[in-house]
Amino acid sequence: MFPRKQLLAALALTVFGTGVQAADEVVVYSSRIDELIKPVFDAYTAQTGVKIKFITDKEAPLMQRIKAEGENATADLLLTVDAGNLWQAEQMGILQPIKSTVIDANIPQQYRASSHDWTGLSLRARTIAYSTDRVKPEELSTYEALADKKWEGRLCLRTAKKVYNQSLTATLIETHGEAKTEEILKGWVSNLSTDVFSDDVAVLEAINAGQCDVGIVNTYYYGRLHKQKPDLPVKLFWPNQADRGVHVNLSGIGMTKYAPHPEAAKALVEWMTGAEAQKMFAGINQEFPANPKVEPSAEVAGWGSFKADSLPVEVAGKRQAEAIRLMDRAGWN
Ligand code: FE
Repeated sequence: MFPRKQLLAALALTVFGTGVQAADEVVVYSSRIDELIKPVFDAYTAQTGVKIKFITDKEAPLMQRIKAEGENATADLLLTVDAGNLWQAEQMGILQPIKSTVIDANIPQQYRASSHDWTGLSLRARTIAYSTDRVKPEELSTYEALADKKWEGRLCLRTAKKVYNQSLTATLIETHGEAKTEEILKGWVSNLSTDVFSDDVAVLEAINAGQCDVGIVNTYYYGRLHKQKPDLPVKLFWPNQADRGVHVNLSGIGMTKYAPHPEAAKALVEWMTGAEAQKMFAGINQEFPANPKVEPSAEVAGWGSFKADSLPVEVAGKRQAEAIRLMDRAGWN
């Protein structure tokens, strides 16, 4: 009568009681575009038989939902971007630490929460993009130098409302303190050629269109646009190579405080930090694997290697509130 699988499931429920959910399932709340994660989850299911259900939404409603569900949690894992967001989730008390020697061995400490509440999975640099027609790379040096008069009317920036810029600013505050960071931001704002943009691709398009000569963007947006327009007269520049290095942020994952399938969720996260998943997960969005033993894709490697800032990325969260206040004071909309 019953297919064998259903029958076994029914028996398991009888034996273990109805409060227990099947362990061969993990539920992920994700703020990433479906196409970026589905192939990775499909590969895991094919190898292990563990089903992964994922719900996609923006990070704020997902976090609120986890908070509201409380002990009746349906989600095991929260997958999102930016250490600033993951840190927020940690502060809301909706995550729990994953203690894992596998994760600790695969992901450098600077890309994990010191609480073990989340770990990075892929990295992206927030770096300088420039017009190859109007700027020589020798004219560029640091993020700070984009505040020089030389760039007046030549800079494009994304809005200060985006967490990526808040995180970059947080690292500037950590490095220079508030007063100097405010000076830098004011310099950037006074160098703007036009209003801030709502996304990084618009910044790149503006450089391409001649509206400005330099901007600050995440590397994978450059990768996406470059794929569509191989002749794009815009290149990436790695700033601060003589001092602290390029600002690197991440996409990452954390286990919810009341995860219904904690063991299965932990196993999935461990797998996601390993070579096969890292290659796929980073490759799909032209990001850098967070596991340093895994090579980036050929396209990403083609942008050249660089020294990354060694600050723990959780600084982005710790100084987020300061960063937002400072950006506001500097007139960065
Ligand atoms: Fe993004």
